[in-house]
Amino acid sequence: MATNPQNRVAIVTGSGRGIGKAIALRLARDGYDVCVNDILANKSQVEKVTSLIKSMGRNSFPFLADVSNPEEVESMVEASVSELGPLNTMVANAGIAQVKALLDLTEQDLKRMFEVNVYGIFNCYSSAAKQIIKQGTGGKLLGAASIVAFKPFPLLSHYSASKWAVRGMTQAFAMEMAPHKITVNAYAPGIVGTAMWDLIDEELGKLKGAKKGETIKKYTTDLIALGRTSVPEDVAKTVSFLCSPDSDYVTGQTIVVDGGIIFT
Ligand code: NAD
Repeated sequence: MATNPQNRVAIVTGSGRGIGKAIALRLARDGYDVCVNDILANKSQVEKVTSLIKSMGRNSFPFLADVSNPEEVESMVEASVSELGPLNTMVANAGIAQVKALLDLTEQDLKRMFEVNVYGIFNCYSSAAKQIIKQGTGGKLLGAASIVAFKPFPLLSHYSASKWAVRGMTQAFAMEMAPHKITVNAYAPGIVGTAMWDLIDEELGKLKGAKKGETIKKYTTDLIALGRTSVPEDVAKTVSFLCSPDSDYVTGQTIVVDGGIIFT
């Protein structure tokens, strides 16, 4: 679809660290100028990623915003257009996780999970889509799902449900955005060694009596066909394809990149 390889601009949310950072750097290597987003608490990390991208010869700027706030997301899209030019690609990567038994979940736990992981994706998809439609250029929307969007993990129930919603939203957006030459896809990582999995490992360990590092090791051995924990760059490679003209005929898909845990 209409991604001009000469002039491409992407926003990557939650790109101060982890998978988002790897995606931002990979897209810069692919020739994208990148708006690097995260929350205020990660300001210095966002600035570091921005500098790294500039040192690669691409344009970049930091924008602190909470994706669960629609006004902040709208301002981010406006700022990106004014700093970097027309928007081609939105990578709605930001997300949170929480390990908790279903019967212990509070209304607030459930609410915050959906505010960031579902409303956040919706805010990013819709603000970017409105901008791309206004430009008439076509473009690409991407969202972070997970393997738990196909098969939930126990003790990660509301996280899993939020990722199922990302998958559903991605399919619905794909159908409605097709007339505007916008493709909409999600990526579904498996077990990636980031701060998010440090938290999951620690919290599952507390509940199951395992030491730090043991749970991720066990899941890696027992679940991953390729036998190693994923690194953020594994995910960035798939996202690079989904952000490139090579994926122009792909839409509405949630692409699993997990080393062989879930088979779709
Ligand atoms: P991470 O926690 O290392 O990084 C997530 C980033 O998002 C952080 O920098 C965080 O500050 C930011 N963020 C959180 N809430 C935000 C908000 N409201 N607004 C803006 N930024 C916000 O996590 P990660 O492992 O890099 O995960 C990235 C995405 O991939 C998430 O959506 C996650 O659910 C998904 N994912 C991760 C794994 C994994 O194994 N790590 C597996 C499947 C899916």
